[in-house]
Amino acid sequence: MRIFGKVRHRPSASWRQATDRAFTLIGDGRYEDAGALLTRAADMEPWLSESWFNLALLHKFRHDWEQARAAGLRAVALLDRETGAPDWWNVGIAATALQDWPLARRAWQAYGLKVPAEGSPSGPPAGMALGSAAVRLSPEGEAEVVWGRRLDPARIEVLSIPLPSSGRRWGEVVLHDGVPHGERTTVAADGTTRAYPVFDEIELWAPSPVPTWVVLLEAATEADRDALERLAADAGFAAEDWSSSVRLLCRTCSESRMPSDEGDGEHLDPHDHSEPGHPGPLGHRTAGSGSLWVPERECGIAAPAALVRGLLDGWVADSPDSREWRDLEEVC
Ligand SMILES: [Zn+2]
Repeated sequence: MRIFGKVRHRPSASWRQATDRAFTLIGDGRYEDAGALLTRAADMEPWLSESWFNLALLHKFRHDWEQARAAGLRAVALLDRETGAPDWWNVGIAATALQDWPLARRAWQAYGLKVPAEGSPSGPPAGMALGSAAVRLSPEGEAEVVWGRRLDPARIEVLSIPLPSSGRRWGEVVLHDGVPHGERTTVAADGTTRAYPVFDEIELWAPSPVPTWVVLLEAATEADRDALERLAADAGFAAEDWSSSVRLLCRTCSESRMPSDEGDGEHLDPHDHSEPGHPGPLGHRTAGSGSLWVPERECGIAAPAALVRGLLDGWVADSPDSREWRDLEEVC
């Protein structure tokens, strides 16, 4: 019973049964049936914030953002806590998916985040300075963890070059969930450890026009390889030495706290490509750790078709004795 808003309203047993059953159905992917039960639960207890929170959650799983926003707004209207409510975070995600930027700002502020007054009030929140993070692309399928830059609390711009198998591209913007699954740690030159969250992708928010290429390099030294990555970055695009940046991790390790090889701020590799099982007591092979340099490198390049050959030729021209390329192929 809610008496002067002081006593917490306790849902009925039938509300609990319907809700528990609905979440079991959600676990089995039976969203339609779960939706019917959660709607019935909301009819039973319309003054209970959780009724609408659960419906908003279901609509988030279904990527039905109009409905997620509507249910989420009903949930937050009934909240009795000030900040830190996941209800507001889910409203922020739905608003971001719908590009309802005034509501997205309101949601992050209500959650307790600082939203600077930068940029246009009708545009996306800017200047939140959330830094780098990792995002797990296609978490339900052939998952791949890549690095990116957080644009706001619900979006990451992908700055790794995803592998061809992912069907994804450098420069995509991804909508992601709020609760991280895993962490990546890096150690800076001064010995301090930094931890970065790994978020699960919900859906592609904005595609990238830049295609992905694979090329075989002969790079006599690591510095030769680095020179190509720098050339590509200076041109506004990217090159990534997959031979050293990719490692395979099982799902359990991927969702735990794992060290990343290099932490100089520029190389936030490796990104992880998931594999089915944990490979025994020795653990996973760490990319490029302490092994001798192998000149032949399989390299990903994200650059327009009109630019990619010129980029590679320019790289060779700077040091013809130590560099070569072949087998350039557009893969995504
Ligand atoms: Zn493992």
